[in-house]
Amino acid sequence: MQPIQGLHHITAVASDAQANVDFYVGVLGQRLIKTTVNFDDPGTYHLYYGDHTGTPGTALTFFPWRNMHRGRVGTGETSAMAYAIPTSALSWWMDRLLDLRIETSGPEKRFGESVLRFADPDGIVVELVATDNPATIVHWEEGPIPAAHALRGFHSVTLLLREVAPTAAVLVEHMGYEFVAREGNRFRYKGASNDRGLYVDIVQVPDTGRGAFGAGSIHHIAFRTVDDEEQLEYLASLRAAGLQVTPVQDRQYFHSIYFREPGGVLFEVATDEPGFTLDETVEELGTSLKLPAWYEAQRPQIEARLPVIERKTYTDNDV
Ligand code: ZN
Repeated sequence: MQPIQGLHHITAVASDAQANVDFYVGVLGQRLIKTTVNFDDPGTYHLYYGDHTGTPGTALTFFPWRNMHRGRVGTGETSAMAYAIPTSALSWWMDRLLDLRIETSGPEKRFGESVLRFADPDGIVVELVATDNPATIVHWEEGPIPAAHALRGFHSVTLLLREVAPTAAVLVEHMGYEFVAREGNRFRYKGASNDRGLYVDIVQVPDTGRGAFGAGSIHHIAFRTVDDEEQLEYLASLRAAGLQVTPVQDRQYFHSIYFREPGGVLFEVATDEPGFTLDETVEELGTSLKLPAWYEAQRPQIEARLPVIERKTYTDNDV
């Protein structure tokens, strides 16, 4: 069982599907790589964004629940997600977000890197971290962002917690993360690879209340495991550590186990295989509604309940 390599995907809650697509594809230049439904609630989309092929460590997924009330950020949840960009792209992104009238704060320095912060349409804090070692991705050539400036997958997530030690123990002792640095009340842990989705930051806020779940909340974060066999080893070892871990769930494009870490954040361990080309080619990714076999018989009813998403061609300066 090798240590966890980094983040696999992040899953969050939106309210309006079209606004979500317009932001993540049109503004940030992520490719919509899978259009499916929430397997537990098939009247709701499950939208996946990533690089050209949905490489693990680039995948961001949303449940757009119409009429969902806005969540409130607090402890026991992931309070921000950060994408890596090349250092040379920072001023380009500052200009772009200004042109698009997206309010930003920063850039501020964090562990020596510049971090630009802004919010998505539902209030999720998105950060761009300018790094000299941006990870490898498969660039989406048809997207609105030139390759030199494109997001390079996740850089990190920030967990807002009352205490550091219990969560750090799970990361370090049971998932193979390593403590790398502290800056004020921010503690940084690093996964085992040197590529995408490397860092988990814990920000300690002992006097802050718990978050309230809703639109704009990050539902869970998923970590990478290579295959089913290794996932079962993680299942056994996490249970042996006293964590309440679910049985393996079939998520079609990966297999998943879930547990709530001691600080309250929902963690998932997901397999890299079989991946997003299971039911469509790389070229087709995201272009039509994909359903797992057990929902195909209900396709007409499911399609009738979902809002239409307009497929726009986004360009560099027209969003
Ligand atoms: Zn997940």
